[in-house]
Amino acid sequence: MSSAACIFCKIIKGDIPSFKLFESDKVFAFLDIQPLSRGHALVIPKFHGAKLTDIPDEDLAEILPVAKKIAKASGAGDFNVLQNNGRIAHQVVDHVHFHMIPKPNEKEGLG
Ligand code: 5GP
Ligand code: ZN
Repeated sequence: MSSAACIFCKIIKGDIPSFKLFESDKVFAFLDIQPLSRGHALVIPKFHGAKLTDIPDEDLAEILPVAKKIAKASGAGDFNVLQNNGRIAHQVVDHVHFHMIPKPNEKEGLG
């Protein structure tokens, strides 16, 4: 299921360009256009739903293993996983997404 008006559905289809990091039948991952740190990625289900509660379990189950791969690939030992649901919770794009935000230390110089 996808939504014609949704920018992340357009990114999945390739109608809007992105820096793709990963793609499978159910999951897509790409770099955030306004990164909070170098390597800030978004991991999304291909199934269109605004909130976590809208996504089928079988689609959600494939998200965390991808998030884990991306966290490892970023090279930052420390990182945040952030997932906003609804305007009051600061969600701007209404397609479920997990922010993967590397937190490198200053010595690593990747921030
Ligand atoms: P939210 O506040 O909804 O959790 O975060 C939405 C995120 O999507 C923001 O970090 C924003 O920079 C990112 N974003 C919005 N539009 C685009 C886009 O067209 N391409 C990419 N790569 N990221 C986007
Ligand atoms: Zn969508």
